Amino acid sequence: MSEIKTIVTIASHSALQIMKGAKQEGFRTALICLENRINVYTRFKHLIDNIIIIKEYSDIIRNETQKILLDLDAIIIPHGSFVEYIGIENLYKIESPIFGNRKLMEWEYDQWKKYELLKSAGISVPQVYNKLNDIDRLVIVKLPGAKGGRGYFLAMSKDELIMKAEKLNIDLSQAFIQEYIIGTPMYFHYFYSPIYDRLELLGSDIRYESDVDGLRRIPYNIVEPTFTVVGNIPVVLRESLLTQVFDYGEKFVKITKTKVPPGVIGPFCLEAVCRNDLKIVVFEFSGRIVAGTNLYIQGSPYSWLYFDEPMSMGRRIAREIKLAIENDALDKIIS
Ligand code: AMP
Repeated sequence: MSEIKTIVTIASHSALQIMKGAKQEGFRTALICLENRINVYTRFKHLIDNIIIIKEYSDIIRNETQKILLDLDAIIIPHGSFVEYIGIENLYKIESPIFGNRKLMEWEYDQWKKYELLKSAGISVPQVYNKLNDIDRLVIVKLPGAKGGRGYFLAMSKDELIMKAEKLNIDLSQAFIQEYIIGTPMYFHYFYSPIYDRLELLGSDIRYESDVDGLRRIPYNIVEPTFTVVGNIPVVLRESLLTQVFDYGEKFVKITKTKVPPGVIGPFCLEAVCRNDLKIVVFEFSGRIVAGTNLYIQGSPYSWLYFDEPMSMGRRIAREIKLAIENDALDKIIS
C-alpha cells in the first residue's frame, strides 16, 4: 500500500466540509472540479492545495486524471454526488484508494437491494408494493435514478397511481412503490469506526423539501406535493429516541458486515420518519457522508459528547484516516 498524503473529493455536495476537515487533521487536499464550478471553490483556496480541472465527470477515470491522483498519493472521499457523477459502471475503474466500501456503494444504487438490506437487518421499514392491486394506503412512487426526491409522487390507490403515471409518462415497471409514512422525517448521521470498532452518532437533521414543506403557506389541496431537497435544518432528538437510533445503527453495521463485507466504513445515514407513536421507520440509507452534515462544520451536540474539540463529519473522516495510518491499518478503511 502506497502512502496517503492527500485527501481528495469531487467539488460538490459536502466537498468544502471534507477539505476543511482534512486540513484540520494536517493532510494536503485536492478537489476534482468542473470548469463551471471553479468560481465557487477558488474562493476557498486556503483549504485546497490542488484543483484538478475536468471538462466532464467521466474525465475522472481518464489516464491523465488517474495519474495525477496517484502522484498525489490520494485517498478519495465519496459523497452524495460521487457515484451519481462518475457512474456506477466506473466505480471500480478508479485506481486510487477510496475511503469506504465500494461494494456498499453498489448496493446503495439499487432501490430493491437497499430495501432488502434494511429489512433483513431487522430495522422497521415501510411496506413495499410489488403488485398495484395490493395498494391499500397512501404510497410514494420513486423512479430509478430520481435523485434528491425529484420526480417522486403520491397516490392513494391503484387507479390514482396509474392515472398520474400516465400523465407524467412514467414506466411503472421501473417504479419503486413504498408506503408513505406519516410523521416527522429525520436523518441520523452515523460514523462507524473500524479502527475503534465503535458506532458514533455525530448529528441529525431534517431536510427541507420543495414543495411539500411549503404547503402550509397555501390553501390545502391546490398543489401536488413534490420532494426536491433544497436544504437542511438541524434537529436534536428527544433523548428517549436514542434507544431506537443506536439500535438501528448497530443493526445496520452488523448486517453490512455479513452481507456486504467488510461492512460499512465511516459515515452513513439512516433516513427515517418518526411517527406520532414515536416509532422510527427507515425508508432509505446512504452508505457515505450526507449533505445534512454540512450543518455541523463546527461539530454537533452529539459529536461534542465524543470529542472535546469541534468534529465535523469531514474532520472525523480525516481523523480516521490519520488513525489508520498511525496504526498501520489502512486496509481496514479503504477499498
Ligand atoms: P429519498 O430520495 O428516498 O431520500 O426521499 C426523498 C424524500 O421523500 C424524503 O426526504 C421524504 O420526505 C420523502 N419520502 C421518501 N420515502 C418516504 C416514505 N416511505 N414515507 C414518507 N416520506 C418519504
